[in-house]
Amino acid sequence: MLLSSSSLGQGTINTLDPTIESKINSLLQSMSLEEKVGQTCQITLDAILKADKNGRTLEPLEIDKSKLEEAILHYHVGSILNVSSHTITLKEWECIFDQIQNYYQTKQEKTPILYGIDAIHGVNYTVGGTLFPQEIGLAATWNRSLAEKFAEITAYETRASGIPWNFSPVLDVARQPLWSRYFETLGEDPYLAAELGKAIVSGYQGKEGIDPYHVAACLKHFAGYSMSQSGRDRTPAWIPEKYMQEIFLPSFKAAVEGGAMTLMINSGDVNGIPGHMNHHLLTEILKNEWHFNGFTVSDWEDFIMLETVHKTADSEKDAIAKAFNAGVDMSMVPNNPQYKSYCSLMLEAIKEGKISEERLNDAVRRILRVKMAVGLFEKNFGQAKKYTDFSSENFKNSAENTALESITLLKNDNGILPLSKNAKILVSGPAANSLNSLNGAWTHTWQGVDSNYNSKDAKTILEALKLAVGDANISFSKGAEMYYENGWEQCRLTEIEDFKEKAKNSDIILLCLGELPSTEKPGDIRSLDLPAEQIELAKIAYATGKKVVIVLTEARPRILHSIVEGASGIIQTYLPGDYGANALAKILFGDVNPSGKLPYTYPKYNGVIEYYDHPKSVDRSKANDFNAFDPEWEFGYGLSYTQFAYSNLVLSSSEMKSEDTLVVRATITNTGKIAGKEVVQLFLSDNVASMVPAGKRLKGFEKIALLPNETKTVQFKLTKKDLEFSDANGKWIAEPGSFDVRVNQLKTSFDFK
Ligand code: BGC
Repeated sequence: MLLSSSSLGQGTINTLDPTIESKINSLLQSMSLEEKVGQTCQITLDAILKADKNGRTLEPLEIDKSKLEEAILHYHVGSILNVSSHTITLKEWECIFDQIQNYYQTKQEKTPILYGIDAIHGVNYTVGGTLFPQEIGLAATWNRSLAEKFAEITAYETRASGIPWNFSPVLDVARQPLWSRYFETLGEDPYLAAELGKAIVSGYQGKEGIDPYHVAACLKHFAGYSMSQSGRDRTPAWIPEKYMQEIFLPSFKAAVEGGAMTLMINSGDVNGIPGHMNHHLLTEILKNEWHFNGFTVSDWEDFIMLETVHKTADSEKDAIAKAFNAGVDMSMVPNNPQYKSYCSLMLEAIKEGKISEERLNDAVRRILRVKMAVGLFEKNFGQAKKYTDFSSENFKNSAENTALESITLLKNDNGILPLSKNAKILVSGPAANSLNSLNGAWTHTWQGVDSNYNSKDAKTILEALKLAVGDANISFSKGAEMYYENGWEQCRLTEIEDFKEKAKNSDIILLCLGELPSTEKPGDIRSLDLPAEQIELAKIAYATGKKVVIVLTEARPRILHSIVEGASGIIQTYLPGDYGANALAKILFGDVNPSGKLPYTYPKYNGVIEYYDHPKSVDRSKANDFNAFDPEWEFGYGLSYTQFAYSNLVLSSSEMKSEDTLVVRATITNTGKIAGKEVVQLFLSDNVASMVPAGKRLKGFEKIALLPNETKTVQFKLTKKDLEFSDANGKWIAEPGSFDVRVNQLKTSFDFK
């Protein structure tokens, strides 16, 4: 099944195939200016659906033939995206594709439509799609093969829905915990994000090119989107070139080198330059320096926003010219009738010489290249006859397995966990009985708050615990609930007497705290603190005198310092998806040993955001010692039910020259009584440099499984590239001097000559 079909696609587009390039050129030559402009235009599905007189899409969805014909036959639109307001069935998708591809099929149009979707944690817009943990959870597995498997299954199910293009992975590096899209990222570290990002791209696109079971990846949102100064979505970031190079670009670069075919652009602005006008990033770095042969797509309405929001264009035509000339190849316009003025204005801009035909041809060539690579010009649009594994048990097991490796044990006083299967447990908290809380946004609907479309076989935490140990030992009292008021998250205490009463008959209180699903602008928050009512609920729970275990379902690390000490156990589940509750139950009762590690630094105080790779000055405290770095939990942290001992950190040499590869070995032993998995992490420190060096940076990691008493030696390789840093102008340099290598608590050094 997976990976076994014939390859229709062109393989990687990193090396261009002359035969395919000449096909693209002849197609391009046969196209009118209007047809070329249409290729660069992307509309949303709603733009061609039947709507009421207020413009609201009618249910059930039905394509409006006159709108469709206008878009395709008159404006030659090249791409469509999205679902309307919620998940639809495979049959409905099929019906949509039959109609939209009909014009190419019947030779009325020269090119087929490239359809794209946000299947960012599984195929979230197709009924029955397998929902995995969100990317932040994927990052917490620190497991490259799980990341690749996630993407392979998601690609299969996306393709089963008829869609060959996925707007994923998000490769923005998470450095602003307030940001509503923190959970969509692979965490705080550029190396972890690059390694897992490459694995995801390989899972989406396949190793042999894009066959009927794979899709084109779309890296987003290039670049610096995650670093908004205000913490609010799509607001300005100020990122010096050094920081851009070291933190925000490596994940994108690695994925481009890995063959990613498309890339979406940052809706915000960096250093006063909107992402969609950033010629330096889009053309000089991405296309010229990294030799990216795929195409770039704007984000939602972002050409228009250059005029209306950023105020860097004085008209829509000016905006189109500026974005296009900066290096954007396709505009997600995407609404109706706006797309029509996009096409007309773009045409005018070309005729007036504001955009050269050469630039237009370059963009269209890139788009056609991807259309060919995904097999759209092949029989049946590169689709397989059947996708029998869609929604299979096998896929669901993979999703649960990913959740199992992501869940991170943060506190376990006196080994309170794992719990006895005979313990009487009061399950409580706003996230205790909510599937939406486990999935987060981009789940059946954009914001993921509607429960009408939830998968029938997925369990909430309460349901999964009952299933695991039987109803008799599990009681439930909500304690607190979350809701939205005027668009802002709110929380209130509820049924507190019931909670206290049920606590009396329990051995343990399992408190499920967290956030309401949200993303983008609706996900903006005003404080990183966990809502006060949830803190209060924890304090009420502590006052009962029972042992309390906190389970977090969080899109971002919310501050909970005031309740950490009182908890006996704390478990971070991130947003673990449809099978996350089953996974949590297995970990709570010790059927599986937790092995997730934090992919970010968990802050302790609302006003102090910490990063693990901070320079030494950040360590300097008021007392002038070096103890100021004080997060709640460190990047890479996570407990296990067993213990691991580290020994014998050895280097192949105490000196390294430019052409050398330094081999680092460390020995790890499972000294506990049960099997477990450990993430071995290698950090490098440049001890003295001409610019303030990072305190340490992750340069290698391996996840290993060890039986009790088993010992393994893990080997890493360091080359000159690992020693380099960016200077103020973005030039990478490695300076001679001493470097420290750390693996767990072990430390050794070498000199770079
Ligand atoms: C988001 C993108 C997404 C696009 C299409 C935008 O608002 O920023 O991440 O891919 O919508 O749904």
